[in-house]
Amino acid sequence: MSGGDFLELAAPGIDRLQPYVPGKPIEELERELGLAETLKLASNENPLGPSPLGLAAAREAIAGVHLYPDDNGFRLKGKLAGRLGVAPEQIILGAGSSDVIDMVARTFLAPGRNAVFSRYAFAMYPIYTTAAGAECREAPCLPPDHPRMPFGHDLEAMAAQVDDDTRVVFIANPNNPTGTWLKRDELHRFLSGLPGHLVVVLDEAYTEYVEAPEFPDGIQWLKEFPNLIVTRTFSKIYGLAGLRVGYGVASPELISTIGRVRHPFNVSVPALAAAEVALDDAGFLERSRRTNREGLAQLASAFDGMGLAHIPSVGNFVTFELPVDAAPVYDALLRKGVIVRPVANYGMPRHLRVTVGTREENDRFLQALREVLA
Ligand SMILES: *Cc1c(COP(=O)(O)O)cnc(C)c1O
Repeated sequence: MSGGDFLELAAPGIDRLQPYVPGKPIEELERELGLAETLKLASNENPLGPSPLGLAAAREAIAGVHLYPDDNGFRLKGKLAGRLGVAPEQIILGAGSSDVIDMVARTFLAPGRNAVFSRYAFAMYPIYTTAAGAECREAPCLPPDHPRMPFGHDLEAMAAQVDDDTRVVFIANPNNPTGTWLKRDELHRFLSGLPGHLVVVLDEAYTEYVEAPEFPDGIQWLKEFPNLIVTRTFSKIYGLAGLRVGYGVASPELISTIGRVRHPFNVSVPALAAAEVALDDAGFLERSRRTNREGLAQLASAFDGMGLAHIPSVGNFVTFELPVDAAPVYDALLRKGVIVRPVANYGMPRHLRVTVGTREENDRFLQALREVLA
């Protein structure tokens, strides 16, 4: 038996797959450069740490990890259902919301089918689509000089990409890495115009941060659109990224269909426990929201002062443009112990994305950036 050309053996699409590039871990930078006290503003994590209530619950739950978790997530689903005004049968839990997005892709995508998403949309959409052997249909986004939403999703362009073979449409609201968002009326109009032979993933990973009155809550549309699934996560504002827990909400029929491909016990014992009580940590959420609101303003005015264009963001991150190639700037920031996120893999070689930190962290990042650009 000879072999070894595993890419040739792999299922259709795997040879075209470009793996996800995560933000650089703090430990890796400290190991490589012998630095201490590094600052990571690269993965949209909560600078205030984990929800304290969630952390305490996870600590307590650790004592029970010789047992498998409740595969049905009864308590967390019950809590979420009450919060969101839906039935528990309308909820599926995931190891992060990306797990739920992957379930949708594995359920509905295959060779000969396609998924539609915007240029500069979240990088996991093409990965899950390609891994399922399906075609990626990337719609152009709004132009960089668009008066209201530069780099935003162009819903008309997205609708034009939909055909008989489309089975999934991905929308991130707000989107990462652009921080752009869609208003209630325009998104509702888009959903109303789509055919019924596809599923729409409305990815609301940052929804808890958004304070604009015209920002929609996709869960209110589930009765009207049985082929809509809204995904949310405990990784961002709840500060539980390392535990891996998120969820999807949709019609019971759609939830039970994607549940066929869910890995058993996909959410761990401490993750279930932490998520359940983090939902009640209203004080922490309010502090997180305020820190982010103030940090967004701090970064925007600093970028303006430095003459750097940035994309107006409602998330917990800002993508800004450099007058030069961003790669050497990213490297120089690393050597100063500051990790931000290159977005060249999104086709934005002159941009960098920075996560909103505490006031002090933002100051440290801005100081390092000024020194690098001087
Ligand atoms: C962070 C993020 C997610 C989900 O992350 P999980 O940790 O898997 O929940 C999903 N969508 C977008 C746009 C994100 O930025």
